[in-house]
Formats: sequence, C-alpha cells, structure tokens
Amino acid sequence: MKPASFKYYAPESLEEALRLKAQYGDEARILAGGQSLIPAMNFRIMQPAVLLDLNLLAELSYISTKDGKVLQLGAMTRLNEVEGDVVIADRVSLLHEALPYIAHPQIRNRGTVGGNIAHADPAAELPVVALAMDSRFRVQSTNGSHWINSEDFFRGYFETAIDSSEILVEIEMPFLEPCTGWAFLEVSRRPGDYAMAGIAAVITLDSNHICRKARLVYLNLSDAPLDAKQSADLLVGEMQSNELIMEVAIKASEEEIMPMGSLHATVNYQRHLARILTKRALKLAFGRAKQT
Ligand SMILES: Cc1cc2nc3c(=O)[nH]c(=O)nc-3n(C[C@H](O)[C@H](O)[C@H](O)COP(=O)(O)OP(=O)(O)OC[C@H]3O[C@@H](n4cnc5c(N)ncnc54)[C@H](O)[C@@H]3O)c2cc1C
Repeated sequence: MKPASFKYYAPESLEEALRLKAQYGDEARILAGGQSLIPAMNFRIMQPAVLLDLNLLAELSYISTKDGKVLQLGAMTRLNEVEGDVVIADRVSLLHEALPYIAHPQIRNRGTVGGNIAHADPAAELPVVALAMDSRFRVQSTNGSHWINSEDFFRGYFETAIDSSEILVEIEMPFLEPCTGWAFLEVSRRPGDYAMAGIAAVITLDSNHICRKARLVYLNLSDAPLDAKQSADLLVGEMQSNELIMEVAIKASEEEIMPMGSLHATVNYQRHLARILTKRALKLAFGRAKQT
C-alpha cells in the first residue's frame, strides 16, 4: 500500500516547525518515529495533507533531570534510549519496567516518547505509566508553551489535549518517592503485541508499612488510560493483606474498568485479566515498597 500524496517539510528548528504547524493546523501531522503514523498512512486510515518531520530537531531529543527529583524527556527521545538509561532504571523504575513491553526492539529504535504519548493509543504503555507517575506534558505553539497534567491530557481513543497549532515538546515525570513500590504488568498474546490488558501500580508506605498513597492505572481497559481511583483509595490507611488485595482487585475489575472487548479478548476475559494483574501488581508493589 502507498499513502495518499502529501507535502513534506523537514524543519531545521523548532521555531520553523511551530510556524508551519500554525500555518497548516489540523492538516499537518507531526512525523516523529513514524512507527504508527506511516502504517496508518499506508493503509490510508490517515491522510494528512502535510507532514512535519521533526527528525532534524536534535534539541527535542534529551534525557535530563531537574533538582534531582524530576525526569525530563524531550519529545523526540527514542524509546530505546529511555530503556537503556541507568538513572531512569534506578529512579523512575516503573517507566524502565514498562519499556520492554512496547512493541519490538526495532520499533523502539525509531519510536519516540512524544510519538507514543501523542498517539494516545489506549493499549500503549507510556500513557499508562505517565498517568500513574503524575507526569505533565509541555506543548508549544508560536504563542508560547504551557503544561498539561496527565489527568487532563488523555481524552479518549487517540485523542489528547494537544491543540491543532501545538507540538508536544517535553515530558516531565517525578522520581519515585522513598518507600514507594511499583509494578508494571500486562498480558498479550505474543511478546511485542499490543496487550489485551495491563496495569501500572504505585504504592507509597509510611514507616509502619501503612499505605499512604496508591495509584492503579489500567491499559486497554477503557478508551484511554484508566485511573481506578476508588479501588486505589481502598488501600490508603491500610496494611497489606490478601483480603484487602482481593477486595481491590474485585472492585477494579468489576466496577471501575470499562473494557471494550476485541477479536482477541472478550470483555469477561479482560475483566478476569484485570483481576489477576491487580493482585500480582499489588503484591509486587507492596513488596518493593517495604524494601526501599
Ligand atoms: C508492529 C507494531 C507493534 C507495536 N506495538 C506497540 C505496543 O505494544 N505498545 C505501544 O505502546 N506501541 C506499540 N507500537 C507503536 C510504537 O510504539 C510507536 O512508536 C508509537 O506509538 C508512536 O511513536 P512514533 O515516534 O513512531 O510516532 P509517529 O508514528 O511518528 O506518530 C504517531 C502520532 O503522534 C503524533 N505525534 C508524534 N510526535 C508528536 C509530537 N511531538 N507532538 C504532537 N504530535 C506528535 C503524530 O502526528 C502521529 O499522529 C507498535 C507499532 C508497530 C508497528
């Protein structure tokens, strides 16, 4: 298959890219790693009139930290660079743990952090991790830049709060707090496939091992990353127990998630996966929190 015809620009500066985005608005798509956009164009699911290729913008590709507390990722940073970063492995371990689940190494060599997030596939790993970690996203237009919290960013199937004149330029993710445990788990038919269901869990304990904060975010169990707040709230103020974990797993899988079902997994099977993954993720996260 070949894509419909389009105009192609490869701006050499962010200013030039923003000018072109302002000029073409919705008609222009950003080309980042191209791992989702190009197949969609080849199948003519997407037919943008204009492609703005950001691959010359080295200024958007970086991994840095702020105040020793926050990870900063340029939108064009390749997924494999994030996967291999030792600071991320140590301080933002949930992100490190989720990375190998994204597609295959060849795709992670080209795919970008910004592309994965801006694409907003409900079955993608980074949006789920970003929400579980309370990340924020900096979007920029010719009028300047502003931050959008992850809670306000994902709006449904392949839909985000990025305006037609804006480009996603940076992602900030706080380091894990002390006494915090994490877990990222998912189930797919084959390694590298999009998952039928997944979960990111983050648990912070006090010095008596009582849960102070909890976050449970589900993958592919709604039209966007699903933040199961009511289920997570059951954990706060409590110590780990099998009964509590079972109660949370049942509440999340029966009451909070909104699975759509697919060719590969019925709604009932997705609920079953959610229950099992919740139990496993909570045990892992509590265990890790006690060790830190
Ligand atoms: C076989 C296969 C399996 C895959 N499996 C998985 C998987 O299991 N999990 C997973 O998460 N992903 C998976 N992917 C998708 C892959 O991770 C992509 O790399 C990712 O979704 C998009 O990143 P990209 O940089 O390639 O973006 P592109 O394909 O270049 O762009 C994707 C979309 O985001 C927009 N965009 C990109 N960058 C920006 C920006 N800075 N600002 C605004 N808009 C922007 C584009 O205009 C486009 O609409 C798979 C892909 C393939 C081909």
